[in-house]
Amino acid sequence: MSDNTTPPRPTALCPRCAHETIEHITGSPAPGVWEVLQCARCLYMWRTSEPARRTRRDAYPAEFMLTPEDIGAAPEVPAVPPLRGPEAGTATR
Ligand SMILES: [Zn+2]
Repeated sequence: MSDNTTPPRPTALCPRCAHETIEHITGSPAPGVWEVLQCARCLYMWRTSEPARRTRRDAYPAEFMLTPEDIGAAPEVPAVPPLRGPEAGTATR
């Protein structure tokens, strides 16, 4: 350990929603190189060796950030619509 680079550190906050409960999912085969972490609230998952825009709240793109209100208001995953019958879908007019 003679390099002067900052080792990867787990973020204290979820990059996406700023939640403070971060789960350790797994780590690198060689210990200490990277970890995979997951937010307990929004389920965002990242590897600590990814760029800051994926791992740090202060660098995460604002358009992808979530607030608790966003999460509470998030719709369910849309269901796959039923298949169209043979007469319903006319591909050409
Ligand atoms: Zn989160």
